[in-house]
This record gives sequence, C-alpha cells and structure tokens, in this order.
Amino acid sequence: MSEVEYPYRFDKKKRKKARLYSKQKFYTGFVQGTILTLTALIILYFSGLSEIMEILAFDLLSYLPLNNYWIGGAIFVLIFTAVIYLIGLPVSYYSGFILEHRYGLSNQSKGDWVKDHVKEFIIMQLLGIPLILGIFYLGQNYTELWWLYAGIIYFVILGVLSNTSHLIFLPLFYELNEVEDEELSRRLTEIAESNGVDEVEKVMEVKAGEKTKKANAGFAGMGKTKRIFLFDTLLENFHEKEIETVVAHEMGHYVNKDIVRFILIQGLLVFPMFYLTGMIFNTFESFENFYALPLFMLIIYGLYSFVDPLILAYSRSRERKADDFALSVIDDPKAAVSAFKRLSDIDLAELNPSRAIELLFYSHPSPIRRIIKAERYEHE
Ligand SMILES: [Zn+2]
Repeated sequence: MSEVEYPYRFDKKKRKKARLYSKQKFYTGFVQGTILTLTALIILYFSGLSEIMEILAFDLLSYLPLNNYWIGGAIFVLIFTAVIYLIGLPVSYYSGFILEHRYGLSNQSKGDWVKDHVKEFIIMQLLGIPLILGIFYLGQNYTELWWLYAGIIYFVILGVLSNTSHLIFLPLFYELNEVEDEELSRRLTEIAESNGVDEVEKVMEVKAGEKTKKANAGFAGMGKTKRIFLFDTLLENFHEKEIETVVAHEMGHYVNKDIVRFILIQGLLVFPMFYLTGMIFNTFESFENFYALPLFMLIIYGLYSFVDPLILAYSRSRERKADDFALSVIDDPKAAVSAFKRLSDIDLAELNPSRAIELLFYSHPSPIRRIIKAERYEHE
C-alpha cells in the first residue's frame, strides 16, 4: 500500500473548491438545521395545525382495534415528526446529495440515498416516539418531579446508546469487514496496547467509499469489545504514517475518557433543561395536550442554544487533548501535519473559518490551528 504522495502538500484547486463548498454547506445546514425547523415548529403550533394533527390521530385511532390513549399519542407523534421531516427533506437532499455530487464528494446513487433516509427516519421514530410519549406520560402523572424522572431515563438511554451505537447503527448504514492488511492491524493494536488501551478486539474497515469520499476513523466499545473503525477511504488514500496518527487521536479520546465525559455533561445538563422547559411550558400549556409538542420543542431548542456554544467549546478542548495525545504517542509531527492537510483537502474543509463561526458551530478546532500546533511540536 501507500503509493500516495507523502508528506502531503495542499492542492491549490482543492483549496479554492473547499472555500465554496464549505460556505454552501454551512448555509444549507444552517437553513435546514435552524431556520426551517424553528419556522415549522412555530407555524405548526400557532396556526393550530398541530391541534388538527392530534384530532386526526385520534380519529385514526378509532378505526384501530386497540383503542388506547397512548397509541393515539404515538400516532400523533408519528404524523407530527413525519411532517417536520418532510419539510426538511428538500434542503437535506440539496445539502446531502446534490452538493456532495456537485463537488465530487459522493458516488452514492439516488436509490441508496433514499434507502439511507428511510432507515434514518425509522430509527428516529423508534427512539423518538417512546421518548416523547415518556415525557408526556411523566408530565401528566408527576407534575412536580417529571423532569427528574425524565432526566434519569434520558441519562440511561444516552449511556446505553453511546456504547452500543457502533454495534447497532453503523452496520445498518455500512458494510463492515475486518481490515485485510494484517501488518497495519497489528501495528495499530500495538500502538493501542503500549498506551494503556488493552484488548482491542478488532480493527474494522467501514465500506464508506460507495457513499462518500470523505475519510474518517473511530474507536468504540469498552472492555473486551474495543474496536478500531477505519473508513476504506482512509485506508486507500492515506499514508500509513498518517493513518497511525489519525487512529492515535481516536485512542486519545478513549484514554482521556471523553465519551464518559460527554455522557456525564449532557446527562447532567438535561436535568436543569427539563426543569426550566417544564416551568415555561406549564405556564402556557399542559402535558395533557399532545398538540403542544412543538411548543415544548421550541422551548428546549431555545434553552439549548445557550448551552450549545459551551458544549462546543468543551468539545474543542477535548479534541485538542486528543491531538496532544496523538502527537506525543506517535512522536511524528510531520505525519500529523500531512494527515490534517490531506484530510482537509479530501473533505473540502474550510481551513480558517472566522473566529465567530468557529466558536458557535465547530466541534473541532479549525484545521489551521491543528496544523500550526503540530508544526510547533516539531520545533520543540
Ligand atoms: Zn477527535
């Protein structure tokens, strides 16, 4: 393997393309993620459309053999979330399919894209319906302490999903095989073991190339089921030294217990969030009304937008720590710099976003900061 140019140097054409791509991607993401969803929630609630949906749901229920109040609620949540999903779909198609193809970042067929989105919708329903109904059930039955019980349940679900999603969801979207290059597997496992990450069970290859050109890697699991995941796009296009530093970064997250940290932070934040949301929600509405769901979501959304920049700042600091870990473990800053540069070109990432954009939206430090830091390490 590895007949790739090494160390990698920026490609001027790619840099130009990246600037255009990341701008377009950002605006469509922002439109879809924020403006469109918020507008939809506001319209659905204040126009009375969500009330009509609830009436419709309970009308449908009367045709079913199981005439249960909570099944009526489930039908409402299904209709409501389907409408929200459909409203976002054109932007999501533009951003996730058209733009990706226009910039040569995807070979995915339309059929496969649709299949992925149907799966995504089903997963969203399987998780979302019980969660929303659970909140309304607790809100109806435990007026004072619903937020505490709901928070505990959320905390547990988050913990379970964080540790199992690579086993449940990853295989639903990608074909997975063990990495064929035994030499590479052995070396990565060795790097893990010599840094206190024992018992890596498998080094897996994620067949992502048929969907995207972007490269990625991950480290998941605990105990004896720890696994390293490498996108085939990483294996094919990166030099082995770069792959090592990328994997070392992921190990850094494991060694620094970042998954546990995020479960704890998100888990602890959910209690005050639910408490405040309930306080505001109950002054205008009641958990007896399923149709008030968009209002509940708007309040949560509003409150979350205050804590989100803090969570992102914390995430960036954890990413810096994982970079530090990779630099000290591999002790080859040239490989790190080369990997960051190649990754930025392949993903068409913006190298140096404005500070405001970085503070508000970036979960990772901007590529330029990561590159400069690795270069400085070299001079130490
Ligand atoms: Zn990371």
